[in-house]
Amino acid sequence: MLVIGAGIAGLTAAFVLHQRGVSVRVLESTARVGGRMTTDLVGGRVIDRGAQFLSTGYPMLSSLVRRLGLSSEWVRTTPWTAVVRDGRVIRFRYDDALSSLWSGLLRPQEIWTLARQSLSALSTVRRPINDYGRWSDVDVTDAASWYDQQFGPWMTEYLVEPMLQGFYFQSPEETSCALPRAIAGFLTQGAHTSTLRGGIGRLPSALAEHLDVCLNQTVLAVEPQRDSVAIETQDGWIQARRVILAIPAPQALQLLRSTSEAERLLLSTTYSSTLNLPWGWTAAGGRPIPSTTSMVC
Ligand SMILES: Cc1cc2nc3c(=O)[nH]c(=O)nc-3n(C[C@H](O)[C@H](O)[C@H](O)COP(=O)(O)OP(=O)(O)OC[C@H]3O[C@@H](n4cnc5c(N)ncnc54)[C@H](O)[C@@H]3O)c2cc1C
Repeated sequence: MLVIGAGIAGLTAAFVLHQRGVSVRVLESTARVGGRMTTDLVGGRVIDRGAQFLSTGYPMLSSLVRRLGLSSEWVRTTPWTAVVRDGRVIRFRYDDALSSLWSGLLRPQEIWTLARQSLSALSTVRRPINDYGRWSDVDVTDAASWYDQQFGPWMTEYLVEPMLQGFYFQSPEETSCALPRAIAGFLTQGAHTSTLRGGIGRLPSALAEHLDVCLNQTVLAVEPQRDSVAIETQDGWIQARRVILAIPAPQALQLLRSTSEAERLLLSTTYSSTLNLPWGWTAAGGRPIPSTTSMVC
């Protein structure tokens, strides 16, 4: 079995397969593992280059941390955040609704609207927050349109946009309204964020210690054949019985020489440059895919 990409998705897939006795090799184009989850030490300071926290709403990641013996290194991140309104920096705790209401960020009329609308929306956000598939029925329009209409433009500007831009680097106009609603579910279920002492890049590094990872190996093309898959690397073609593509969707699309119309449409998703597949969802074929983030089969 070959896994392409030594980011957290590829390494986790490889680790799970390895633990089940499958012989697996990971090909990574750069000189280090982790992809968008790496940490550097700069002047003695820990700098996470991409991902900065893990959510307790991701049960697979917290169980991975335990299995890798890193539980004692698991620390909570600060719940304090800040938003600028009318030139003033307003601080509040994201995990404490009262702190955000009384911080001065919102006007009394806005607090009233937020409380009223949130109460009526409460029943719709009580679902698993790590399974995006369970939110598809609320994926009806973009976040800016939905929140402007349900609450008012202040909601999009001072709460939804800072949250989406801050955590996901996405604008409310280009994001499904299902995402902030899932995050609201995350907050109502008391989930919180954590990281690893020494930086989050310790997680992929710990996974890689158990695996056969080939660095500086760029895959140029992937050609599914009848009983195997042909893979072109800079050193020539190799064959594998099975391949997991664990790279962002647009890059996966470029590697796949032959894709069905359905796969092409799926990989051309414009919501985000990463494609999130929930547990048990199948891209092609009907087999369940154990997926953490952008895993494409
Ligand atoms: C700035 C930033 C902050 C973030 N903050 C958070 C956060 O706080 N919490 C959180 O949960 N998530 C966060 N994320 C998202 C999270 O980092 C990603 O969802 C996750 O790391 C993606 O992992 P991946 O394995 O799917 O992809 P990647 O990390 O992109 O890994 C793909 C790997 O494949 C390799 N690759 C690509 N093409 C090829 C090829 N042709 N041949 C061989 N190898 C190839 C790449 O070099 C890379 O190592 C953040 C992302 C960014 C960018």
